[in-house]
Amino acid sequence: MKRADMLARIAERTEPWDIVVVGGGAVGAGIAVDASSRGLAVLLVEREDFGKGTSSRSTKLVHGGVRYLEQGNISLVMEALKERGLLLRNAPHIVHDLPFVVPNYSWWEAPFYGIGMKVYDLLAGKYNFGKSRVLSLSETLERLPTIQREGLRGGVLYHDGQFDDTRLLIHLLATAADHGATLVNYTEAVDFVRDEAGFVAGVVLAEREAHTRYTVRAKVVVNATGIFTDDTRRLAEPGAAAMVSPSQGIHLVLDRSFLKGDNAIMVPRTSDGRVLFAIPWNDRTLVGTTDTCIDLPSYEPLPFEEEIEFVLETAREYLSRPPARADVLSIYVGIRPLVSAPGGGEAKTSALSRGHTIHVDNSGLLSIVGGKWTTYRRMAEDCVDHAIMLGALAETPCVTAELRIHGYQPDRDRRPLGVYGSDAAGIRAIAAERAEYAARLHPDLPYIVAEIVWGVRHEMSRTLDDALARRTRALLLNARASIAIAPRVADLMAAELGRDAAWALQQIATFTALAQQYTLDPVAASTAAASAAPASTAAVAE
Ligand SMILES: Cc1cc2nc3c(=O)[nH]c(=O)nc-3n(C[C@H](O)[C@H](O)[C@H](O)COP(=O)(O)OP(=O)(O)OC[C@H]3O[C@@H](n4cnc5c(N)ncnc54)[C@H](O)[C@@H]3O)c2cc1C
Repeated sequence: MKRADMLARIAERTEPWDIVVVGGGAVGAGIAVDASSRGLAVLLVEREDFGKGTSSRSTKLVHGGVRYLEQGNISLVMEALKERGLLLRNAPHIVHDLPFVVPNYSWWEAPFYGIGMKVYDLLAGKYNFGKSRVLSLSETLERLPTIQREGLRGGVLYHDGQFDDTRLLIHLLATAADHGATLVNYTEAVDFVRDEAGFVAGVVLAEREAHTRYTVRAKVVVNATGIFTDDTRRLAEPGAAAMVSPSQGIHLVLDRSFLKGDNAIMVPRTSDGRVLFAIPWNDRTLVGTTDTCIDLPSYEPLPFEEEIEFVLETAREYLSRPPARADVLSIYVGIRPLVSAPGGGEAKTSALSRGHTIHVDNSGLLSIVGGKWTTYRRMAEDCVDHAIMLGALAETPCVTAELRIHGYQPDRDRRPLGVYGSDAAGIRAIAAERAEYAARLHPDLPYIVAEIVWGVRHEMSRTLDDALARRTRALLLNARASIAIAPRVADLMAAELGRDAAWALQQIATFTALAQQYTLDPVAASTAAASAAPASTAAVAE
């Protein structure tokens, strides 16, 4: 994926595109894969970096959603369980099975959750990841050596999927590129082109590096802008009523020693009736999340003080070594693009459906919103089926249920670079170019220099934030270590991108200010405390 080539294709094309997708998150990337693999001419544009919105900030679970089972939403759970199975089959280099244990401290929990998880197994049918079962006290302790032992009676084991969200995103984009799609980041849809009848027939694009404007024509324009869906719709129809209810969720990243072993903890009902996960991820412990109704979408939302306290407090109840603020290696915050309740006015976003909605405005703009990472493929299929009808495009069946995702390798490789799948060979080749490329970036981070170079050369990594937050996950794994390596990474990127020292300095300053927000150090904390109180907060299993 070379950015200059992509921009050249946009400039050179005289025919209308079959589909222009606005938004480069999970949903937009899924649509680009679906449409290009059906043989359609696709352009995808992303205003910031791919995944800068919600899709880099998930709990990293590919799952049916045990919580929705309790809410009685069987069809949503079954759909997600099937998608979970398809993802494991098509991207086994990124998605893998993760055993979860629900720790039991009351007599009724083993039978209650034991039966619930059996239903979960049943609904997964042939896509089952592994059988659930009730665990004895000693089996629970063996799986969760750092669980709070006082009052523990046993546990219930079940299985779900885990992934690296931005690695899957980049590999989805690469899959679309492999099928001929044109994809570009840092290019914003700023206006729509109309035909004689007044229907949307193209997009005006503003490319942000060279400040070039492009006007592209399209048979169908798809709005896949997540939490920004309503802003995009209002470019075409200024008075469009809101479809999205934004809901914020935070995660705290702790050292791996807080959760030893290969099992995750799922707390289905915390002291005040909420839900929480502690998950092993990239040799760290990920704890979260919350579900806080907020007013306005933004790219780098701040955590609310009460969200931090809630997650820490609950983690302390379940982990034998209680985490303190000083133990937080990184805190990241995302906003869910939930579909508003009919008639609006829903205060508790945790009660809103995680299903998706497809909507066609009077302008002919096709919007898709809601759902979750796990169901991106199903959402994309649904959306492209609608686009084919709306734009009278060639009727071709969806092939993504069977389509291997870029980097595919039949088995999970747990070694360093394993998550890149077949691309790991390319990174090793870069590491062999110079001794310094094979070196680790920081003793507290698992990345080597060659990964940064690979990202710039092949994955359109343009800024320090792209390289450290989304091509690698350094910012999420250890915010302070990321700040420490920023000067070195900026120099490397400047050399690869042909940028000067002033660019590198500006990148370091911008990234350092951003990364500070991912720490719980006093500067960031005081800013967070100063931000307005949330409308309502609840914790959820995503
Ligand atoms: C805290 C949290 C935890 C979650 N955990 C999970 C989980 O474990 N498993 C799961 O399945 N799901 C999870 N989800 C849900 C999942 O992350 C989201 O449903 C999904 O990422 C949404 O993807 P999207 O493509 O709709 O939005 P986004 O990823 O936000 O993508 C939209 C993109 O549109 C771009 N854009 C906006 N306006 C324009 C414009 N004018 N021109 C060009 N581009 C534009 C934005 O920059 C953005 O990148 C979680 C969500 C949150 C918030």
